[in-house]
Amino acid sequence: MEGTDRLRASGSETARLDAELLLGDAIGVGRTVILAHPGAPVGANAAATYRAALERRAAGEPVAYIRGLKEFFGLAFQVDRRALIPRPETERLVELALAEIMRRLAAVGRGPGTGMPPLRVADVGTGSGAVAVALAVELRKRRAAEAVDIVAIDLSPEALDLARENAVGHAVADRVAFALGDLLPDAALIVGPPYDVVVANLPYVRDDAMAELPVATTFEPALALDGGADGLAVIERLLGLLPEALFDGGIAALEIGADQGESIVAVVARVLPGWSCTVEPDLTGLPRVALVTPR
Ligand code: GLN
Repeated sequence: MEGTDRLRASGSETARLDAELLLGDAIGVGRTVILAHPGAPVGANAAATYRAALERRAAGEPVAYIRGLKEFFGLAFQVDRRALIPRPETERLVELALAEIMRRLAAVGRGPGTGMPPLRVADVGTGSGAVAVALAVELRKRRAAEAVDIVAIDLSPEALDLARENAVGHAVADRVAFALGDLLPDAALIVGPPYDVVVANLPYVRDDAMAELPVATTFEPALALDGGADGLAVIERLLGLLPEALFDGGIAALEIGADQGESIVAVVARVLPGWSCTVEPDLTGLPRVALVTPR
């Protein structure tokens, strides 16, 4: 296929997949249709759209930004340069946060008719809103939507707009509150701290590793990636806020880099003496999520 060759020449490691996805979008069909009709002619308009998309991809732009779409946790998210593209490894963060939420709901019984207030959950640094929206959709499936209040927080007003659009797209805009803020909400809110569960995929790339990231990553906001000298600067700031941000018995689930399993334990020991920090692996067996809780 012409497009695959063009992308392979530009250095894409997933040239064929990229080309199939972009061609499918240009024609308005799924990838399977492309695979089923390899020799089918393509109209002039679709061909022009496809060529323009190929040029953007050849210049390094991520396929997800060109398509305006990324699948995460079985849901289609709108994505663009306002926020980081959701990564597959972050699905582990959602799974663990969901398990913590369900465990707490089962332990106390919450929501309408129980006399208990809803559980409070904060997604800190929500970006595209993928984590908060996936949680809200999963809770709805489990008929637990009413038992949990979720707030999605971000420093970037543009990212927060995108997150809101994704909440609307998945019909959970009434289940997720949105708040501007540097880690915690700027303004007093109905869903303000303290929280039962804090979930966060904050920037954790070391300064000196920023330049080595794949070229596609340079199209994403550095604010969502750059974690300072040791990569844990922003996470460390959040840790410092946890004593006021978490209820007693609350828990924070924090995404970390695969090489930060040991350093996060050391940082928690220094910033939050006496608290516990356990590191959970992702599907590939690499350290990915730190669970932090007062002991
Ligand atoms: N896993 C991401 C990457 O390697 C980093 C995401 C983050 O810093 N939160 O690009």
